[in-house]
Amino acid sequence: MRSAPTILHLDMDAFFASAEQASKPSLRGKAVIVGGLGPRGVVATCSYEARVFGVHSAMPMAQARRLAPNAAYLVPRFAFYRAISEQVMGLLRELSPLVEPLSLDEAFVDLEAGGAAWDDASARLAGAKLRADIRAVTGLTGSVGLAASKMLAKIASEQAKPDGLVVIEPGTERALLGPMPVRTLPGVGPATGDHLRRVGIHTVEEIAEAGEDELVRLLGKAHGHALYAMALAHDERPVVAERETKSVSVEDTYDIDIHDRVRVGMEVQRLADRCVRRLRSAGLSGRTIVLKVRRYDFSTLTRSETLRGPTDDPAVVREAAARLLDSVDTTGGVRLLGVGVSGLADYTQEDLFAQAAGEQEDSGVAEDADDVPAEAPVVPVERRWASGLDVTHAEFGHGWVQGSGVGRVTVRFETPDSEPGRVRTFRVDDPELEPAEPLPLVRGPFAEA
Ligand SMILES: [Mg+2]
Repeated sequence: MRSAPTILHLDMDAFFASAEQASKPSLRGKAVIVGGLGPRGVVATCSYEARVFGVHSAMPMAQARRLAPNAAYLVPRFAFYRAISEQVMGLLRELSPLVEPLSLDEAFVDLEAGGAAWDDASARLAGAKLRADIRAVTGLTGSVGLAASKMLAKIASEQAKPDGLVVIEPGTERALLGPMPVRTLPGVGPATGDHLRRVGIHTVEEIAEAGEDELVRLLGKAHGHALYAMALAHDERPVVAERETKSVSVEDTYDIDIHDRVRVGMEVQRLADRCVRRLRSAGLSGRTIVLKVRRYDFSTLTRSETLRGPTDDPAVVREAAARLLDSVDTTGGVRLLGVGVSGLADYTQEDLFAQAAGEQEDSGVAEDADDVPAEAPVVPVERRWASGLDVTHAEFGHGWVQGSGVGRVTVRFETPDSEPGRVRTFRVDDPELEPAEPLPLVRGPFAEA
């Protein structure tokens, strides 16, 4: 492991919600919740003001509404967030060719590879300058963690939140990690966390105390070995410029076609277990289970099933693979079987992003679902007026949809650099009201980008 804290982890603070607050002056300092507003919606991001009420990412939207009934509920504007994300990633690439984005608002940067830092002092300086540049260019804040490994840099940025910078000095890692919960370590998903808890291992120090043999006995060779190393703060994973892994899969080709349906089922279970071991040793979990079957005549089928959340649980993957196999005719024999998991996430935000995006498509029209009679038909024109979207009015100018329902749409007229604006209500089919593009958050020398 390197001897200087030159791996940087950047995490924008409450990214979607902060972007909305910067964009909508009336929401600054208020509880803002961004996510799917449909019946199965989840919270993608909430502002720090909303967290006070106990709202957090991944929470069902219905529960958030009970906890914070007066918060502003907005649909995500992904194109807008992506534009800001590109500005941020551009700043990171000025520091180093080795930038590894994890989601729209999170990335690792190898400062040493770019010559941007080589010791503690230069790393701190680069981190502080980056935070200032991000603020100047985007108007938003990001937190920076600096350490000698990816694992510790990520933990440092978590400690730095919000709007801060934390350096973990090389040599202090083990003492810092010791009392932390096992879930802190990459590769410890919900299933592994439960498994460890059942044998009385709650903290990172307890993993280290259990010893490598015990970990391997509990979790298998690859995963046990990797986890033990992480608990000792050994993390040699390099920062890679591209996410190289889009899926994890294993397959076997058989010398003799398998005809026995029971045997085919057993092979699929075995492959599912092997696939999960790979997934875990890479510190990943995934949402989509894929089954591949090549039959005696070389025809190849793939079947997939997408779960509601990411998993690294062998039982869940086995069951999904078995369900997929049920839909495949294997009479005549199979010569190859494969099981894979895609839709990978090592950090939850990515997955939330996917869920919120899926939600967006079927989210209804009203900010307040209760205001709309259940039998009300969804009029296509109303779909344009989801809460949070930008609009422009011939007379009143630029604004955003605060809510809509029963044939009306309420618009607040304000822009990123205006005072908090006034609210007006229109008929949803008002010809003077049109959807609009988001306005840039920062005007001036940086705005033309
Ligand atoms: Mg973030």
